[in-house]
Amino acid sequence: MADCPMLTGCPFFNDKMKNMPATSNIYKRNYCRGEHTKCARFMVRQTVGPEHVPADLFPNQRERAETLIKEKEQG
Ligand code: SF4
Repeated sequence: MADCPMLTGCPFFNDKMKNMPATSNIYKRNYCRGEHTKCARFMVRQTVGPEHVPADLFPNQRERAETLIKEKEQG
């Protein structure tokens, strides 16, 4: 498993998001330094573009990401 290519600029990884979850270190290990392709933020960024990543989207919110992606893809 590899580090996410977004580590440096990512607000989640750099603790810049409001209401950081208590489990953020676990998410960082599992997503940011692990399976980043399963991260909700990464998924939205890769499929519909960085400008569509909600400021408050956390890595584990995959369902929310999928809904958002579907909405954007349907225009
Ligand atoms: S895995 Fe997600 S939260 Fe972590 S650095 Fe990449 S885009 Fe950011």
